[in-house]
Amino acid sequence: DPVLSLSGVTKAYNHGQPSEIAVLRGVDLDVAAGEVVALVAPSGAGKSTLLHIAGLLDTADAGSVRIAGRETTGLGDRARTRIRRRDVGFVYQFHHLLPEFSALENIVLPQLANGISQSAARARAMELLSSVGVGERADHRPAAMSGGEQQRVAFCRALANAPRLLLADEPTGNLDPDTSDQVFGRLLALVRDTGLSALIATHNLDLAARMDRRVRLDAGVLVPA
Ligand code: ADP
Ligand code: ADP
Repeated sequence: DPVLSLSGVTKAYNHGQPSEIAVLRGVDLDVAAGEVVALVAPSGAGKSTLLHIAGLLDTADAGSVRIAGRETTGLGDRARTRIRRRDVGFVYQFHHLLPEFSALENIVLPQLANGISQSAARARAMELLSSVGVGERADHRPAAMSGGEQQRVAFCRALANAPRLLLADEPTGNLDPDTSDQVFGRLLALVRDTGLSALIATHNLDLAARMDRRVRLDAGVLVPA
């Protein structure tokens, strides 16, 4: 089974109003186990909408969303939340780390919410931070870290609960080009090592070229890019 399978996904906003806008018009996409797919789209094309639907943060109007072989259409909020917490990790352009907690604590907390013990959660957090080269920053709060370090911690948090699928929206988009290149390399290495599947939105064609496959969101459908 693909780790993510979208089929005939449609989504419009402002239903029945003059301002109604059909953003997704029948999106089909399979992301295989271990596959890293670049999602390329101009601003406003609907990539955030697509990532939110794929990650069960939003629902489609029609079509099917399967995660790790499980059909999610029609599931209630609690079941969707359980699947999202267990199987999906998110990274955004901005890190969204909790400012009053250390890097380590930011990676420990989502594990505690998933029932992992304090000691196991701390060990995993430390291992993740070290794997992306910020182990020595574990006790620092986000504000005391550089933008690149903050994003590396955000990757670790996304992977804290060992998801099957990583969804990323311009994960290095707020970094300068050199840092972006370097930090993206860290993300890709972490994804490869873990064997997880990823759908990563980017405007950066050099970064897209480093992924296994590229798709473009064009007039509400996905085409090879
Ligand atoms: P992207 O991430 O590619 O920039 P989005 O998915 O955020 O695109 O948005 C796609 C289109 O849908 C845009 O025209 C945007 O204005 C519109 N849109 C997004 N969210 C909403 C919403 N909650 N209500 C109405 N329109 C929305
Ligand atoms: P944008 O791409 O619109 O600028 P941000 O990068 O600021 O968005 O990320 C904030 C997004 O986090 C919001 O669009 C929101 O839908 C999303 N979100 C909401 N709940 C959660 C959640 N539980 N986990 C992760 N992201 C969430």
